[in-house]
Amino acid sequence: MHCASCANIIEKTLKKMDGVHSVEVNYGTERAKLSFDEEKTNHHHLSKQIEPLGYSLVAPTAESMGMSENEHAGHLGLNQSKQEKMVELKSMRNKVISVIPIAIISVFIMSWDILAQFSLITEMSVFWVEFFHHLLPILATYTLFVVGKPYLLGFYRFLRYGKANMDTLIGIGTSVAFLYSFAVTAFEESLRPFINVEATYYDVTIIVIAFIAFGKYLEARSKIKTGDAIEKLLNLQAKTALVMRDNKEIEIPISQVAHGDLIIVKPAGKIPVDGVLVSGSSYVDESMVTGEPMPVSKKEGDGVVSGTLNTNGSFVFKATKVGSETMLARIIQMVEDAQGSKAPIQALADKISSIFVPVVLVISALSLLSWLIIGTQYIGFSQALSLGLVSFVGILVIACPCALGLATPTAIIVGVGKGAGEGILIKDARTLEKLGKVNVVVVDKTGTLTNGKPELVSIQNFSDKTEDELISLLASLEKNSEHPIAHAVVSRASEKGINLVSVEGFEAIKGKGVSGIIQGVKYYAGNIKLIQELSLSFDTELFEKETSEGKTPIVVAVTEKVIGVVMVADSIKSEAVEAVKNLHKLNIKVVMLTGDDKNTAKFIAEQVGIDDIVAEVLPEDKLNKIKELQLQGKIVAMAGDGVNDAPALAQADVGIAMATGTDVAIESAGITLLNGDISKLVKAINLSKMTMRGIKQNLFWAFIYNIVGIPLAAGLFYPIFGWLLNPVFAGFAMAMSSVSVVGNSLRLKTKKL
Ligand code: ADP
Ligand code: MG
Repeated sequence: MHCASCANIIEKTLKKMDGVHSVEVNYGTERAKLSFDEEKTNHHHLSKQIEPLGYSLVAPTAESMGMSENEHAGHLGLNQSKQEKMVELKSMRNKVISVIPIAIISVFIMSWDILAQFSLITEMSVFWVEFFHHLLPILATYTLFVVGKPYLLGFYRFLRYGKANMDTLIGIGTSVAFLYSFAVTAFEESLRPFINVEATYYDVTIIVIAFIAFGKYLEARSKIKTGDAIEKLLNLQAKTALVMRDNKEIEIPISQVAHGDLIIVKPAGKIPVDGVLVSGSSYVDESMVTGEPMPVSKKEGDGVVSGTLNTNGSFVFKATKVGSETMLARIIQMVEDAQGSKAPIQALADKISSIFVPVVLVISALSLLSWLIIGTQYIGFSQALSLGLVSFVGILVIACPCALGLATPTAIIVGVGKGAGEGILIKDARTLEKLGKVNVVVVDKTGTLTNGKPELVSIQNFSDKTEDELISLLASLEKNSEHPIAHAVVSRASEKGINLVSVEGFEAIKGKGVSGIIQGVKYYAGNIKLIQELSLSFDTELFEKETSEGKTPIVVAVTEKVIGVVMVADSIKSEAVEAVKNLHKLNIKVVMLTGDDKNTAKFIAEQVGIDDIVAEVLPEDKLNKIKELQLQGKIVAMAGDGVNDAPALAQADVGIAMATGTDVAIESAGITLLNGDISKLVKAINLSKMTMRGIKQNLFWAFIYNIVGIPLAAGLFYPIFGWLLNPVFAGFAMAMSSVSVVGNSLRLKTKKL
């Protein structure tokens, strides 16, 4: 895609079509995302509509399941476009190289002329004047028709279909300079009485095209670099897997790995798909996915994810997720989607660049007219025509909205990519934009501030059963629950070799606990709310001392009475304290929201240094608390473990899911912190701020250069200071503006979060 206004025109054209629901065209990624009614229109028909604009729609190939790296990249449309981009880049480079000597000759003649005008050097000898007089038209012809072909086509499409884009501006500018000069050369003698036939503008055509071609080449080269985060992720994917088939180890392409395959991982081998370890043990370097540098211990039953690297042990695992289901594939897809999404801040730039081209065409025509009408009265027709032409071409060349179109997407692409490298997955540009503005962070306790791996610490038994029998009952119930505290009970039972019994009618009571029937008796296990609901009398003093030390009670009851209390304790994440401190430094208030006991919550909050707690809440109250904060005008980020916090995550301005291990709730939140490390939240906020700062700088420079450039090129300052922007400098400025915008976005890559 050649320019930002192309993106706009394509978007508008497609939007107008019957049956098209939505279109989003992104200049940064050069992609269109569209949804349409297949009964009313089709891909082919839509493609036809944008052909006059010089584009066509290419649909990504249908989703295939097991994929090799290449197939995968192809599936995501990356390989192909990257290869195509490299080919295009090469042809751009060749053209730039071919035009360099021509540009040098033009600059040489031009400088000689200027220096001679100021009598700094002698005029060129007649022979050379004559020589260049004949050479320049030939060189300009080559430059315009070969190197400048895209711009000529832009001009052609404008004449034929009335659609203008940035290429059109350059096309009109350079062709007018060329045609005028050509007419002068051809009819020199007949025109001599009317105009200054010494003044031709072949050099303008040549140098402007040379600069712009060079700028476009640099821009394209840097644009490829902005997207290399995806490439890095793709390179993580192993190409083959060593599997057990018929008791033999064979190496097969990754695309042939099926669910349930037993995969052997040798020392220093890559893990090819997602799965669960069945034998052996090792440490696995997961830094490429989670951003966490320490290798993670893996033993039987632990999950492994594709793209990570085994250290020196060896093990066998069972494939549970293959092809596009793997975590890596989903990460890649998500990064790609996010990079292609539009940030709200871009809306203004889009609006401006969509009206920019026609407005500039009008301004340039008005400027030429003013020179002819007003200028002629003061400096004579011949001179006014020369200056008018110069301003006409200058305006068209400098006013390209290219930098404007690149300002936001390039920064977003780099920002999202950088996040992915740190284990911060960002769903879309909107989220990235919002995150930096957050002033309240609400965090869930279990699994977010604490490790979410509580252990059973004490048992109080009020029943006639033995302690082991009580554990057996409780563990049997909890086996069906997903809650982290349920795991504490189940794992204690399995450690002690306690048998579990069968449970009928299991029920999870949201925010309170669980219930189920064992041998005809209904049992309940949960918090004090649950006990109150059952209208059982119970003295909370029995566990107050322990809750004030941060432990969580599970009260076990039958319909008539409480039969025991089990306490579980969860350790605080080591990074949580530091993370909260850093959030405070950013002037962000931290609120803890938990369904857990008040005293337990208070203890943890004090340990971590949290400002405000809301305890013993039901999931829907979590949602209401977020709403309440939002009504107070706060911009709220909610960090939770992504499952029972889902409604609150969705309500928050920015939902942040802690995805620990392979259980990634990637879809549930705007941001996913891959290793569940809350301190990454601070980094994510910094990333957002940096990216937005980059975008604002980009937009500022893109605007300012047009605001200053256009009046200067129009010659507004000519009557006062004698300033008129030479189109050659306009070409230079225009080329550099895009390059500097992309360069500024790339700078983000090297910044520390
Ligand atoms: P949170 O994630 O903040 O703990 P939940 O809504 O998941 O919030 O749970 C609220 C409370 O309900 C828990 O703190 C716990 O006391 C009780 N609870 C939930 N599930 C269970 C369970 N399976 N067994 C015992 N208690 C539970
Ligand atoms: Mg929770």
